[in-house]
Amino acid sequence: FGLLSPVMEQVRVCARNLLYGNAERYEGSFEYGLLKVAGVRLLSAGKVHETEEDETALYMDRENYRKAVVSKGRLVGVILYGNLSGSERMLSMIKSGEGIRDFSFLIKDLVVEERELKPEDMVCNCNLVSYGELLKAIRGGARTLEDIQRLTKASTSCGSCAPLVEDILKKHVKARPQRINKVEEYKRAKHPFERNLMESLINWAEDGDWQKVPEEDREIGLKWYGVFYRKATPGYFMVRVRITHGKLSSEQALVLAHLSKKFGKNDVDITSRQQIQLRWIELKDLPKVLEAIEAVGLTTLQTGMDNIRNITGDPLSGLVEESFIDTLPIARRITEVFLGKKQHADLPRKFNLALLGSKHDCINCRFNDLCFSLAVKDGKLGFNVYGGGKIGSGGPEPALDLNIFLLPYEAVEVSKTVFELYSDMGNREDRNKNRFYFLIKELGIEGLKKELERRLLRRLQEKGEDLVEKWGEREGIIRQRNGLYAVSMIVPGGIFTGEDLEAVAYLSRKYGSGELRLSVYQNVYIVNVPEENLSELLSHPIFEKYPISTSPYFTNLIACQGSRTCAFGVIENKPDALKLASYLSQQLPTERPIRMHWSGCAKGCGQHGAGDLGFVGTKMKEKGEVLLAVDVFVRGRKISTVPLSDLNEYVKKMIMEGAV
Ligand code: SF4
Repeated sequence: FGLLSPVMEQVRVCARNLLYGNAERYEGSFEYGLLKVAGVRLLSAGKVHETEEDETALYMDRENYRKAVVSKGRLVGVILYGNLSGSERMLSMIKSGEGIRDFSFLIKDLVVEERELKPEDMVCNCNLVSYGELLKAIRGGARTLEDIQRLTKASTSCGSCAPLVEDILKKHVKARPQRINKVEEYKRAKHPFERNLMESLINWAEDGDWQKVPEEDREIGLKWYGVFYRKATPGYFMVRVRITHGKLSSEQALVLAHLSKKFGKNDVDITSRQQIQLRWIELKDLPKVLEAIEAVGLTTLQTGMDNIRNITGDPLSGLVEESFIDTLPIARRITEVFLGKKQHADLPRKFNLALLGSKHDCINCRFNDLCFSLAVKDGKLGFNVYGGGKIGSGGPEPALDLNIFLLPYEAVEVSKTVFELYSDMGNREDRNKNRFYFLIKELGIEGLKKELERRLLRRLQEKGEDLVEKWGEREGIIRQRNGLYAVSMIVPGGIFTGEDLEAVAYLSRKYGSGELRLSVYQNVYIVNVPEENLSELLSHPIFEKYPISTSPYFTNLIACQGSRTCAFGVIENKPDALKLASYLSQQLPTERPIRMHWSGCAKGCGQHGAGDLGFVGTKMKEKGEVLLAVDVFVRGRKISTVPLSDLNEYVKKMIMEGAV
């Protein structure tokens, strides 16, 4: 009955005073009563019994009764029954005491004249939701009053703005063609977490026929659980294991190695998000594989589709001198916030987050949707925040400088708020244009910051001094802060095997602390190795296959799956990447790290835009013949398309001419 409004007003004034000192006085609230019973809506505000000197106006039809009382040319009271459209406007006229020229206001809102609303006009006074915010929510996919209530909180308190909200919805939802995409339709029908897919998987596995798995569940739903049907390898599935910052215990590594050997043809991929992928898994084995992974504290959950993907970070975070903030505990806490939670598993699109607490960027931090990068402000270490980095979806873009500085303890709350903001406001129509980048472009950096601050209920600090000074992969024997050593193993293209993983896990137990770290460059580190163990460790034959140090063309190499195991791949990719690295190592030996990133197609999983040199599989026509080729990128900008057969010479020439 209109009690909430004074409370909200007092809270608002109180918050402003707490934040900014004596910024504002509470001047009292305007009182009104709202009755909503059995479909009846009645609002009474201000002076409703006129005196002799007042003027009144009455309007009545079959469903509505409206009365206004005007005193000395100002609206002082109203009674509205039936359709309450315009009540917000009349309440604010009474509050502001603005003069009125005629009584047309009394009925004109019975037909919403929405064209008159400006984006900054408040529609919901209780929760301070403007017309502009409603439009954004509609653009972000809101279709019903419930959607609007969930996304903006408008109309969740006194409810008097509900008719206006519904009218706005009617107009805009109708006006906009509903072109939601296939994935969005699937989620709206029922979210993957509500479809009992894991229970169904057990039944499907018992049957064993992958073709009987409903296509939508196979192609969409199971990816929420990290299970990917691969069209390029009919009848086989891939599972992607989330490994925060690439930190893996030997016990976990041994289980993954065992699964790979037993169920996955001994294949192990180390991915460019520090994860492990097991391929060639048959449907009948999937439940066993997933159960074994969960049993050692790992998960495949939310590693695909519209989810927050594995949080990347310096693989030697917290271990080496140049790691100033250990971001692993922060990344783990953020992961706890979103993992298994439906509200964070329904983003418009995938979302990549990277945390860099080191001076050495070995994670291509700025090619993530959100990047927290080491910085200092007023003598305190924290992060500068960048947003909207991407590789696919229309080409590579480094993340934009959002001019925000965070202290480490703020990272969890701000990440969560960004996830919510993106979920609420991101576009859900066109999957090619709905990464976080596009929302930032729509809101503008200032608009995004304002929206973040509104949700956080506080101001964010402006950026600090960026402390990152080095890029690329670390290699060799790396001294840790505690006097022990990290030993790298260069794994070109991340092509590993179950046997290799098993061997490395045992080596880490025997010579280190039983811990491995995987890098974005798809390499492996055995960490915490005492000096006296180094020579024996390095004499193991596995270092002939995966040396601790090699040509920079291999060390700084990223290559995604390519056409052998990915249906989107245009070229084989990994073999092509290795061929070029090998050629350049022989022809142009160098100490200079040249980061070569390969994507098998324009989806960009190989982060081609983040490399010094990037390659994307494509096809081209030459003399009427279709050739396999690559688009060549230099630091994110495409410069040419070259047939694979000519690539070695082409790149050699570029490097010799100093074009890279
Ligand atoms: S970039 Fe293309 S080929 Fe490579 S993994 Fe992604 S979708 Fe597959």
